[in-house]
Amino acid sequence: MTNISQPLIEWYSRNKRDLPWRETKKPYNIWVSEIILQQTRVNQGIDYYYRFIKKYPDLKSLASTHIDELLKVWQGLGYYSRARNMHHTAQYLVNKNKGVFYSNYDDLIKLKGIGDYTASAIASISFNQATPVLDGNVYRVIARVYGIAESTQVKSGINKFKEILNKLIAHKNPGDFNQAIMEFGALQCVPKNPDCENCIIKSVCFAYNKGLISDLPVKKQKVKQKVRYFNYLHIIYNDNTFIEKRTEKDIWNSLYQFPLIETKKEYSLIELQKNKDWLQIFETLNLNIEKEVFTKKHILSHQVLVACFYKIRIIQTTDFLINNYQSIPLAKLDIYSIPRLIEEYLEHINK
Ligand code: SF4
Repeated sequence: MTNISQPLIEWYSRNKRDLPWRETKKPYNIWVSEIILQQTRVNQGIDYYYRFIKKYPDLKSLASTHIDELLKVWQGLGYYSRARNMHHTAQYLVNKNKGVFYSNYDDLIKLKGIGDYTASAIASISFNQATPVLDGNVYRVIARVYGIAESTQVKSGINKFKEILNKLIAHKNPGDFNQAIMEFGALQCVPKNPDCENCIIKSVCFAYNKGLISDLPVKKQKVKQKVRYFNYLHIIYNDNTFIEKRTEKDIWNSLYQFPLIETKKEYSLIELQKNKDWLQIFETLNLNIEKEVFTKKHILSHQVLVACFYKIRIIQTTDFLINNYQSIPLAKLDIYSIPRLIEEYLEHINK
């Protein structure tokens, strides 16, 4: 097996992008950047990284913030469990480890929200441990160069890729190797039309030499997405509206939302008004419903949300509304952390 480690590290030193988290090896900063980048494109992640580090420069400041404030900083990035896990981990390290980050893979992986990929990245970049990372970019490069037709959706496939990476990783500078192979996958050996003619390792690349670039890596099986129907009620009473903090563990836990009626299929407004939740909230059908203002499909990794927002003016509140929702001035809505979907609705009606 030809070792591509050295050519990749040399390629990386010539071609790497200037990214703010590459200016440091501090585990806190590496951790923050890796968590942000888990589900976010690099360009979008840069702004969030700057904002995050400015507001929370270390574990202590992150641990002492209120979760609502953190979620507001995170707003728009999605996958909010990442922020909640970071908050938990920061508090844990402040309380149990004097506010100092763990310095090896075996301890790092025990922390909430830190899996194999993030533990490997921190351990190699910040502490020079030879722990290879395996993300989508690395998977693609290894599958093509060494002709591996196994999937990382199964444990045996992950083991196969890890075995190769463990042989390749440079023990002198493992962090550089990890970053080099990820960057190479992101910039050169891209999913479609990789720049093979100008590739420094094309002479040893299995896929290039066998004409199998579009067959490797093997395609992942698509996860069947569940469709859910969210009917939001944007209720206006004088200059106030009603919100609640979402407590369901499925998505957007701890974020704020308008009263929501979830249904198993798409409901027309007439059907929705007959729903028991609707009647419980309003106790009447005699309402001023402005119109069906906004509908939107929101696609997440495992589910599709079909959302419909109704703007409804009421002239008197009900006990159910008062007891179950928070009444807030309409003008203060923007201080609450809300899902991107609701933010888009608000942008739409305020156009
Ligand atoms: S030759 Fe093409 S497929 Fe092979 S590593 Fe280089 S860019 Fe990727």
